[in-house]
Amino acid sequence: MTKDQLTQAQQHAPADCLFCRIGAKSVPSHVVHESDRILAFLDIHPIRRGHVVIIPKAHHAYFDDLPGDLAAEILGLARELAPILRRRYDAKRVGFMFTGTDIAHAHAHVVPMVEPTDLTSRRYIAEEQLSFGPAPRMSDKELGAVAREISTALVAEDRFP
Ligand SMILES: [Zn+2]
Repeated sequence: MTKDQLTQAQQHAPADCLFCRIGAKSVPSHVVHESDRILAFLDIHPIRRGHVVIIPKAHHAYFDDLPGDLAAEILGLARELAPILRRRYDAKRVGFMFTGTDIAHAHAHVVPMVEPTDLTSRRYIAEEQLSFGPAPRMSDKELGAVAREISTALVAEDRFP
């Protein structure tokens, strides 16, 4: 994406978009990897240790608005992260999904799945009465340690030297 296209995309961003601000580094995050166009950082309310969020730095409200090559870059990074997260965080599988119900800036969740309910729909749950709350906030100290574990593994395994 050229600088002009980036500026154009960001003109349509809401001024208070948190993920635009994280992408621009005006709001700090625990980064595990970045390129010119994408940023991967830790969810501060992780479903599991190692829960990574990948965003395009430019504002796109919907994942289907992403140019194909940008979507491919996000999926490509998730593919590099998945085996690291499986091994390191004792996950049987790693889930990858775009949801966007909370912040309207396309973002992919990459989640080490320790239990099948780590990513699921209540439609699959037999019990009728469920209550929901946020996952606990992980401390910045622990988030920093996890970000170092993952970013070091990416480099050590020569995935993104
Ligand atoms: Zn945004």
